Amino acid sequence: MDKEWERVIGRLGRWVDFEHSYKTMDQTFMESVWWGFQQLWEKGLVYEGKKVILYCPRCATPLSNFEIAMDNSYTDVAETSTVYKYPVVGEPKTFLLAWSTTPWNKLATPALAVSPTLDYVKVQQDDEFYILAQERLTMLRGDFKIVERYQGRDLEKLQFAPHYDFYEGERSPQDKVGVVIADEFVTGQEGTGIVTLAVYGEDDYRVMKAHDVQLAEHVDDEGNLKAAVKPWAGMNILEANPLINEELKQRGLIYKEEPLTHSVPVCYRCGTRLYHAPLPAWFINIQQIKEQLIDHNEDINWVPEHLKYGRFLYGLENAPDWNISRSRYWGTPMPIWVGKDKSGELARRIVGSMDELKEWAVDPKQVSKLIDLHREFLDEIELWVDDGKTIKGKRIPEVFDCWIESGSMPFASRHYPFENVAEFDSNYPADFISEYIAQTRAWFYTMHVISVGIFGTHAFNNALTTGTILAEDGSKMSKSKKNFPDPLKLIDQYGSDSLRLYLMSSAVMKAENINFNQKEVADIRRKVFVIWWNVVSFYQTFAKQTQPTQPNKPEHILDRWILSRLETLIQQTTDFMDSYDLVRASRTLMEFVSDLSNWYLRLSRERLKAENNQEPSQVLGYVLYTLAQLFAPFAPFFAELIHHNLVDDQTSIHLTDWPSVDQALRDTQLETEMAMVRKVVELGRAARKEHGVRVRQPLTTVTIAVSENQLPRAVERFQTLIGQELNVKKVVWRKVTQDVPLTVLLDVKLTNELKEEGEARELIRAIQNLRREAGLAASDRAKMQLPDWPDRWQAEIETKTRTQLVKGEGPLLLE
Ligand SMILES: [Zn+2]
Repeated sequence: MDKEWERVIGRLGRWVDFEHSYKTMDQTFMESVWWGFQQLWEKGLVYEGKKVILYCPRCATPLSNFEIAMDNSYTDVAETSTVYKYPVVGEPKTFLLAWSTTPWNKLATPALAVSPTLDYVKVQQDDEFYILAQERLTMLRGDFKIVERYQGRDLEKLQFAPHYDFYEGERSPQDKVGVVIADEFVTGQEGTGIVTLAVYGEDDYRVMKAHDVQLAEHVDDEGNLKAAVKPWAGMNILEANPLINEELKQRGLIYKEEPLTHSVPVCYRCGTRLYHAPLPAWFINIQQIKEQLIDHNEDINWVPEHLKYGRFLYGLENAPDWNISRSRYWGTPMPIWVGKDKSGELARRIVGSMDELKEWAVDPKQVSKLIDLHREFLDEIELWVDDGKTIKGKRIPEVFDCWIESGSMPFASRHYPFENVAEFDSNYPADFISEYIAQTRAWFYTMHVISVGIFGTHAFNNALTTGTILAEDGSKMSKSKKNFPDPLKLIDQYGSDSLRLYLMSSAVMKAENINFNQKEVADIRRKVFVIWWNVVSFYQTFAKQTQPTQPNKPEHILDRWILSRLETLIQQTTDFMDSYDLVRASRTLMEFVSDLSNWYLRLSRERLKAENNQEPSQVLGYVLYTLAQLFAPFAPFFAELIHHNLVDDQTSIHLTDWPSVDQALRDTQLETEMAMVRKVVELGRAARKEHGVRVRQPLTTVTIAVSENQLPRAVERFQTLIGQELNVKKVVWRKVTQDVPLTVLLDVKLTNELKEEGEARELIRAIQNLRREAGLAASDRAKMQLPDWPDRWQAEIETKTRTQLVKGEGPLLLE
């Protein structure tokens, strides 16, 4: 696979450093990751908190996401669903109705949650009042009467009396209990639209923490109730469930109970029922550096631009603290050692290098032999966690989230700061980085966080973000489906440069997805490279010089125009490249090829062929070579081919300097005027078509009506050009005062003279076609038998076609 990849990359003309690739599992890389983490720690940006994850009480271990995504991860159980009554403080006989399937959680439910936007009602049944979501009224038994209505967020002003309060003694003054919180995670899909909150739920924990609700954990590591839960201390939570409900029923705090069969997660190792538990986890405090993260986004040039204040900024503004610890075996172990002193106080040491590991090792010999920092070698090493070397500590079992490793790449790949300090300092932040759009929230984000956290600056100056290349039908490209062409075959058929230019000018460079289209690659070959090559061949056939050289300001208006266009092209391409806008750079270059061929060369053929005219050759040679220089980053192979043809095959175009703009050759007004003239020609041709007059039929006059500011400085410079292109005898400019669009009027009245001239032109063309078909050379003389021709034009026809006209049946070409 690696070799195949290398071959494609080589054929594509991409530079990739295959020899010095880094691996995140290298000891040097891991040591730098440790160093970076220690930096963040010392800046106070790391804290230990809790994260709620699925937990197996029998194995005493958390399970990761992929471990509960397996087919033996869920089982159906028959249980009870209960609607509990929570008395509202200050409103006698009034209760909030909350639904739950975990009675054990009711032992420590200090808060209830509602949806902020749902409608809620207070209903009367007999002599009691109940509050619940309006759309859940169907769960009530018997008749009821609505007595009051609320929006969910109105309920936040209520207080309720908790069923139990075992942790009253541990409460700090700011800890809240008995509160109602409105949060979006609550829906009206099931239950009563009111949810009980305990720390054993992911949303629960988040909401409680955000609202300073007391976070009491009443279950131990083995799934048993802790000592504080007096009546049932030590009992397994599932065994306690019916006992708890029985007691609450006696206290009149249960509205109803119903059997419920539902699917619950179980441990794939031992089959034990899992539950969500708050477990120790390590975080980077994003909130503390959020402002700096947003500030340093200002220093980054994003391509496409909308990512800067769009997706990336939004991600920064809404980022939660980053949980960086994982319960896994593989990965870079977190360098945190903890131990307890005699009084049970916790002490910890954060290690930032191999030297520190040696310095604090209880048995330094263990470390001197160490060649790998993975868990299998590291976990058994004990460190002194206090500076007096009295407390032995063990490493915490967690490894880093792998995004810590990829986010540390800029310095860890160079083993900074243990090596390459000067090189790193002079190359940081990186000039540019390129990856696909999903990395905006992942790799680009994690590098930014780590860089701002450690170095106080952004990690890269320019981020070029690409989309995804999909198969032609819009599905994902897949090796097994073989739904995309073999890149090497494609390159053989159309050339690397066609493929490169196709991709670089496409929306994939603007972070949008494209459906790969082989026909468009073929089009680029035809419309850019074949046409360009034809211009080169013409130049080589007729050029009056051997090497391209820079001309002085030429005489002819077309020469002046193409040189000015070229200088403008240099300016635009340079500007677009400087801002990493490869799409506009490549599209601008492609348009120029068409202008060069369809306008400049088409109108300049005769001048270029003329024996005694050196100037147009010099102009065309200079334009062709400079164009190749500008194309070199996009089409490196074709650019080099041009160099070999126009200069020599011993040197390379890639070692020449990037072209600079010669302002003396620029005449932007001429460019504007020529664009207008081309428009005139286009409109004039359309008018011919409309009146059914062929291009070869000469006409007397064209009248061009333009507003004052559109009128060329010197109209006489364009008379011949327009006259030839539209095949008219006279070009008249009419200035109009109002600002009206350009209008082109053709006088299509035909005199006999004009008709005869038109016939003569058609005849010349027809004879030339017949001569070509008969295989005659330009110098061969011939005879043409025809019934008739315009007499006045006989001499011209005979000269132009080198064919003598004779009367008779025809047309018949006689050699
Ligand atoms: Zn288990």
